[in-house]
Amino acid sequence: MRTVVVHAPLDLRVETLAPAPGPDAGQVKVALAAGGICGSDLHYYQHGGFGTIRLKEPMILGHEVAGTVVEVGADVTRVKVGDHVAVNPSHPCGHCRYCIEGHSNQCLDVRFYGSAMRFPHVQGAFRDEIVITQEQAFPVKADVPLAEAAFAEPFSVALHAATRAGSVLGKKVLVTGCGPIGCLTIMAARQGGASEIVVTDVSAPALATATKVGADIALNVAEKAEALASYRPHKGYFDMTFECSGNPRALLGALDVTRPLGAIVLVGLGGEATLPMNSVVTKELKVCGAFRTGVEFGWAVDLISNRRVDMRPLLTASYPVEQAVEAFQFAADKSRSMKVQINFAGAE
Ligand SMILES: [Zn+2]
Ligand SMILES: [Zn+2]
Repeated sequence: MRTVVVHAPLDLRVETLAPAPGPDAGQVKVALAAGGICGSDLHYYQHGGFGTIRLKEPMILGHEVAGTVVEVGADVTRVKVGDHVAVNPSHPCGHCRYCIEGHSNQCLDVRFYGSAMRFPHVQGAFRDEIVITQEQAFPVKADVPLAEAAFAEPFSVALHAATRAGSVLGKKVLVTGCGPIGCLTIMAARQGGASEIVVTDVSAPALATATKVGADIALNVAEKAEALASYRPHKGYFDMTFECSGNPRALLGALDVTRPLGAIVLVGLGGEATLPMNSVVTKELKVCGAFRTGVEFGWAVDLISNRRVDMRPLLTASYPVEQAVEAFQFAADKSRSMKVQINFAGAE
């Protein structure tokens, strides 16, 4: 089977490896059709990791995947051969204190595809076939393109973010940063019943896509740094801000336009930022993080499967696996690409 393996920064190879054994009892084998390139895949490709997480051995990338069940092991009841499934890339331990509390995204012993957080690294899902547990297989309707089903993981991250500060229903929402996660957060806020969604970015194409997927007002802060100024009076306008750019300046600007008792949810993985804590204190803001996803994976699959959301505006390009290096190069060019996918032998 063909796999997409990162060896070192800018050293990405398409390699043929022996297929994984199995499926054993409770497992299913999936022929993958589509895999989305995520920001974390790009970090491994461009920099060999992020923060303290570094590549220590070659690793198959990829965790946003969908495909067709081709074989089932004994005792499998959740899916059958021929089913189309989105694959949950997260395999929490199921018995640590956080799993038991229902917060599997905080699991102390999670295995997440294509992650160098632990050693040996957890190999990823950019490959022709993968053996997963049946709990990781989420069926989608047969007429839903698998390219759209492969958005389940990043969409579930956005749905999780949208739950972090309570109900979005009726809220005025600001989303800073309109990359894939920003756009998916806009869609999540729409689903949650936000009354108004204003978004910012520095890229005109990203803002155009944001408008297509549900933003009411899209502001280009590269062209007009003061674009949010009209939202500052009366201590701010927005009930909830979702910071999806990872840019400390966006967070700083959000403090001025989020109203007292409002919330700021940090979705973009950030480094360090200096903030005027007096704003947080005197406006009684809630500032919270959002990391990965839990039960929301099933919600994402159902929303995609039932056609409540349309992922097509976010898919910029799709490359055959042989051209994985080109796919990564294109995905790295944020001025031209939103979500880039790799397609595999299991394509429809
Ligand atoms: Zn991802
Ligand atoms: Zn656990």
